[in-house]
Amino acid sequence: MMEEIMKELMQDKRVRKALAYLQEDQEQMMEDLLELVQIPAFSNHERKKAEAMRDKFTALGMQDVHMDEVDNVFGTLPGAGEGPKIMMAAHTDTVFPLDTPLVPQQKDGVWYAPGINDDTHGLADLLTMIRAIKASGLVFAGDVVFCANVGEEGLGDLRGVKHIFRQPNDIAAFISLDTPTLGGIVHRATGSSRYRMIFRGPGGHSFADFGRPSAIHAMGRAIAKIADFRVPETPKTTFNAGVVNGGTSVNTIAAESSFLLDIRSDSPEELARLEGEARAAVQAAVEEENRRGTQQGAVAVEIQQVGSRPAGTQADDCQIVRIAQTACRALGIEPELRDETSTDANIPISLGIPALSVGRGGREGGAHTAGEWFDPTEAWLGPQKDLLMLLLMAGLQDVTPAQMPKR
Ligand SMILES: [Zn+2]
Repeated sequence: MMEEIMKELMQDKRVRKALAYLQEDQEQMMEDLLELVQIPAFSNHERKKAEAMRDKFTALGMQDVHMDEVDNVFGTLPGAGEGPKIMMAAHTDTVFPLDTPLVPQQKDGVWYAPGINDDTHGLADLLTMIRAIKASGLVFAGDVVFCANVGEEGLGDLRGVKHIFRQPNDIAAFISLDTPTLGGIVHRATGSSRYRMIFRGPGGHSFADFGRPSAIHAMGRAIAKIADFRVPETPKTTFNAGVVNGGTSVNTIAAESSFLLDIRSDSPEELARLEGEARAAVQAAVEEENRRGTQQGAVAVEIQQVGSRPAGTQADDCQIVRIAQTACRALGIEPELRDETSTDANIPISLGIPALSVGRGGREGGAHTAGEWFDPTEAWLGPQKDLLMLLLMAGLQDVTPAQMPKR
C-alpha cells in the first residue's frame, strides 16, 4: 500500500523536478552550510544562528516566520488544508564553546569544521528542501512547519523541543534531521539523567591541617564506586563521569570539587535504578571520607540534576518507521534502525506523538570534536529522502493522501 503511494509520487512531474532540483542545489546547500557553521552557537547561546535561520526562512518566502521565547525559529509551508501538520527540524546549537575557531578547511574534497554535520548540515538541508519545494510547485495536503530549534546538545537538555511540545499544539509527527548515516532511523528514545555532584569541605593546608576530610578525596571515592557499577546490556544502560573540577593547589586540602555524571538507558526503570545507585554512592563516599578524617570539619555533597531526557519507545514496524523505510528504499538507500543516543525526538516520543531522528546525506565523522569532517559526495540523497518522507506524511495535494493521521 505505501509502496503503491510511493510509486505514484515518484511518477509525479513536480516530485521528479524537486528531486532533480535538490541534486542541482547542492552547491547552494554547501554555501549555506559553510556560512552557518561559522556562527558560534554553543548550547544556550544560539541567538545569532537562530536569527540567521529566521532571515533565510523569510528570504525564501515562508509563511508565519517567527522566533519564540527560547529562540526556536519556525517557518511554514501551508498545505491545502486537508492534512496533518508535520514538523521537520534541525538544531542550531553545538557542543563547542563560543571561542572555538570555526573557519572551515577543505582537504581532498572533505570539509572540516566543528559542527559541520551536527547539526548545521541538518539546517542547510531544511533550506535546500524549501527551495526545491518552492521551485517545483509542490503543495502538501497538510501544513509543513520547518523548525531550527535550540538546545539539543549536552546541557541544552532538549530545551528547545521541550518548549515546543509544552505549548498546546496539533503537530501530528516530528522529524529531526540529526543522525549520522544516510539510512539511519532512530525511533527509540534513550532516556538520560545528568547530574553535577558538588562536594564541599573545610579545606586547609595539606601539611598543617592534615587529617581534615577533603572534597577531592570524597569525589574520588564516589567516582571509584560509580566506575564499578554493573549495568545490563539490554536494555542498554550506561554511565559516565565526564568532567571533574576542583581544588586550588597541590598543597591545599580541597574545599570544593565537582563532577558531571551522565546516566542513560532505553528503559525508564533501569534509568531510575541507576540514578538511585549513583545518589547512594556519593553519599556513601562522603561518609567514608568523613570517617577517615581525624581533624574537625566534614565534607557534604550537593546533588544537582542538570539534565533529564525522558525514555520512550515506538514499535519497529510503526507507521512513521515504515514511512522512513519506504522513502529510503525509493532512492536505493538501505534503511537502518539505529540505537542512537537521545535526540530531539525523545520529547514527542515520550508524549506518544510519532517522531524520528533520521540520517543526513554524505559521509561524516568526528562528531563533537574539533576534527569534525564532512564528505559531501552525493549528499543530496539526504534531503531527497527527507522530501519523500514529507510527501508520504503530509500527503501531496490531489495526488496522494497523507499517511499520518491528523492530531
Ligand atoms: Zn545533533
